[in-house]
Amino acid sequence: MNSGRKRIIIGIDDTDSREGMCTTYLGALLMEDLCAFGSPLGEPLLIRLNPTIPYKTRGNAAVALCFESDEPEKIMEHVVSRVSSMSRMECENTNPGVVVIEEGDFKKAKPILSGFFMRAVRDVISIDEARSLAEDLGLTFRAFKNGRGLIGALAACGAMLDHEWEHTYEFLTYRKGVVCGTKRFVDCESLFKADSETYPETWDSVDRLNELVVCVPRSPDPVLYGIRGDTREAVEKAVAVISSEEIERSCIYRTNQGTDMHLISAGCVDDIREMHSYMLEGTVVSPAITIRGGHSIFVLEDAAGRTIDCAAFEPTKNFREVVRRLVPGDRVVVYGSVTEDTMNIEKMCILSLADTFEERNPACPSCGKRMKSAGSGQGYRCKKCATSASETELVPVERDIGTGFYEVPPCARRHLAKPLIRLRCPEFPVFPGR
Ligand code: ATP
Repeated sequence: MNSGRKRIIIGIDDTDSREGMCTTYLGALLMEDLCAFGSPLGEPLLIRLNPTIPYKTRGNAAVALCFESDEPEKIMEHVVSRVSSMSRMECENTNPGVVVIEEGDFKKAKPILSGFFMRAVRDVISIDEARSLAEDLGLTFRAFKNGRGLIGALAACGAMLDHEWEHTYEFLTYRKGVVCGTKRFVDCESLFKADSETYPETWDSVDRLNELVVCVPRSPDPVLYGIRGDTREAVEKAVAVISSEEIERSCIYRTNQGTDMHLISAGCVDDIREMHSYMLEGTVVSPAITIRGGHSIFVLEDAAGRTIDCAAFEPTKNFREVVRRLVPGDRVVVYGSVTEDTMNIEKMCILSLADTFEERNPACPSCGKRMKSAGSGQGYRCKKCATSASETELVPVERDIGTGFYEVPPCARRHLAKPLIRLRCPEFPVFPGR
C-alpha cells in the first residue's frame, strides 16, 4: 500500500424509484469514477436486506465499495454529488443514505456493523437507531430527506468489513442511458444456451419449466440483465455466450443472494413475528384450500398445538401442486417470510408422509374380489361365493408425492432464497423447481 493511502469503505442505499435508477447502477458508475481518487480494493458488494420491508422499491438492495485513497474527503464529496444528482429525490419513498468509513475506524466499527448487517437482513431497524449508530461510531455520513437509506448504507459497510458470510456473484449489465424505459433486447436463445453451458454454477437466469427468462427485468431501470452464480468465472462464462443490445457498462458484484441469510430458525409458532423470515417445523393439520386468485393455503401446527397459515401464492405456479398434495399428518419444514399472519413459502422439506386410506367395498375372503352392495343398509355380498360382510374396508393409498425438498420455480424466487441446486443436504432428496 502507498504511504498515506488508506482503505475507505463507502456504503450507499435508497437512490431509486419505480420510475427509474438502481443503486447497483450508481455503484457500477462509482467503481469507475472513484478511480480518479484512488484504486478499488476487491469486488463491490450488492447486499440484499430484509425482503419484507415495505419501503423497498424492488429487491431491498444496498451496495458497498472499498477503495484505497489518500483523499477520503474528495471521495465523500464525489459520492454525495453523484447521489444528489442521480437519485430519484422527487419520489416520497427515495431517501438516500451514504456512509464512508476510513481505515482507522474499521476495528471499532467491524463487530458492531457486522451485527447490524445481519439484523438488517433479518430484522426491522428504525431510522433513529441507524442515525445514532453512525453518530456514536463517529462515521462520516449523509442522510438525505428522512434518512432511511442510512440503514442500508450502514449494513452494506458492515458486510464489507465482515468476510465470514457465504457469498455468490452477480454479473450486472446496464443499458445505454438513451434507451432506458424502452423494450430490452436480449437474445432469448443465447440466454438458454448460457444456462445449458453453466448451470448449476449459474442459476435463475431462465425458468425451464415455465419457459420464461428470469434474468432480464421489466421495470424501467438501467439493468439489462443480471447473471447469478457461485463464482466470478461461472458468471463471466455465461455472459460470454449472451447476445444483446449494446451495453453501456457492466459490473460483477459479490453478494449474499441465494444464501438463505434472511432465515431465522423458529422453535415454535409463538416465536414468529411479522416481517421476519423463518424455518419452521410442524404438522399439516388441514389440507390446502385454493382461494380466489389461485393462492393455495394450508394450516401448519407446531408441537405446542399453535397454528399458522402457510401459503403458496399464485406466482409460485407449479409449486402449488406440491402444497395441494399435502394431507393432515404430514410433517414438514417450511421456509419463508411472515406477513399478515401468513407464511409465504419459498421452499419446503417434507420430512415424513402420513399414511392415507380410502374406503372400499370389502374383499371376499374366498375369491379376493370386491363384494357388491347388498342394498341400502344391508351390507355387502359376493354372489359367486355367497359370502357377506357388513362394513367397508380402509385400504392404504399410495401418496403422489415423496419426502424431500421442494421449492418455488426461478420465476418466483426471492433474491435471498437459496435455490435447491445450491443446497447440500445428504439426508433428503432435492427436487429443484425448474
Ligand atoms: P435501491 O436500488 O434504491 O436500493 P431497493 O428495492 O433496494 O432499491 P430501497 O429503495 O433501497 O429498495 O428501499 C429500501 C429502504 O428500506 C432503504 O431505505 C433501506 O435503508 C431500508 N431498509 C433496508 N433494510 C431494512 C431493515 N431491515 N429495517 C428497516 N429498514 C430497512
